[in-house]
Amino acid sequence: MSNMSVTFPIRTDQLPGLRRAVERADRQARAHGLDCCRLTRTAAEPMQWPDCHGVPVGTVPCEDITVTVPLPQFQGWVVIGETECDPETGVTTTALPQYTDVVTDTAPHCNGCGETGTATSYVLRHEDGSTMRLGARCVEPYAGIPLPLLNELWRLIRRCLTSEPYEPGCVPPTLRVYVDLALEYATALTIEAGYAKRGGGTVWTTTEQVRTLMLGGEHEAVRSLHHHLRTAGDVTPLAAAIRQWCRRGAADTSEYRRSLARVASQETAVPASLGLLVSAVPIYLRHAQRDLRAGERESITATVTAVDPLDSRWGPRRRIQLVDGAGRRYVWESMTLPFPRPGQRLRVSGRVVRNTVRDGVTETYLTRCRTAPADSDVS
Ligand SMILES: [Zn+2]
Repeated sequence: MSNMSVTFPIRTDQLPGLRRAVERADRQARAHGLDCCRLTRTAAEPMQWPDCHGVPVGTVPCEDITVTVPLPQFQGWVVIGETECDPETGVTTTALPQYTDVVTDTAPHCNGCGETGTATSYVLRHEDGSTMRLGARCVEPYAGIPLPLLNELWRLIRRCLTSEPYEPGCVPPTLRVYVDLALEYATALTIEAGYAKRGGGTVWTTTEQVRTLMLGGEHEAVRSLHHHLRTAGDVTPLAAAIRQWCRRGAADTSEYRRSLARVASQETAVPASLGLLVSAVPIYLRHAQRDLRAGERESITATVTAVDPLDSRWGPRRRIQLVDGAGRRYVWESMTLPFPRPGQRLRVSGRVVRNTVRDGVTETYLTRCRTAPADSDVS
């Protein structure tokens, strides 16, 4: 065995650092007459990037890298492991993958001089299968292997063996977030908590909230946002409608609509585009509302979101709230029995009384409604 190769996945943004480590080790290897250290790459592929709950929020380019490192030999001996003993971090043992069973976390010592408590020591294996451990100071006198060379080679080997493309809490500069997920988050938060924009007297904008959900943030903040997501229910159809609307602006006269269309037509976007994407939600919701005029009769298919009792002198009366697939909200103050239940999907035909804005979302008040179940799954 004169060299070792290890293949592992790496994010493309981690590559320059690894390349520098390979070059440093290579200079040492060449200076001591060994083969050079090599790094071979493969084509980059998008790797899913999860948030702190394991939900994929986007992708980062990743590739498989193979690093080949020459192993210094001495009269049939080769170094197969390194142990570092730090009073603070404890004992760290790095072994060549095929020798992990041989190199164990024994108390650091040196078979050369008999010293114990050695800070850095190396495990050497002979062709005949025997092993010995040498402290950093004894490697050169006993085995003829220069310490600076060993240091550099094992720093590289350790880096290759412990490399992880996913680091919790890290936001790689190459991260691209999923456009549909960003719109789903933005839609749910806008419906549930109202749209908050910069300069609106609100510190925490909807864009920052979406960014926190996707890229992470303070634990309590993330928890409260997830609460909103749960109470908003399934907004996937509405978010899809908003994305469609964004994409339809490709040939629009407005630069804003064209930029929006460009971003929304991709599966992923750079996090810097989140503000643009999120801004589409309230615009779409207002736009979707515009064609509902007071006095007109409307037929909608909507889901009951709440049924609340109202004061009444003439019998049971309920305030029924509904939301349709485009995210429009409706309110119907009904005395018609039986009252619907939350979660029911209904075909509702009624007259528009007025539109009001609550928490940045328009609600359309309907009256004299006729309803029928809209269970499309019953065939
Ligand atoms: Zn020693």
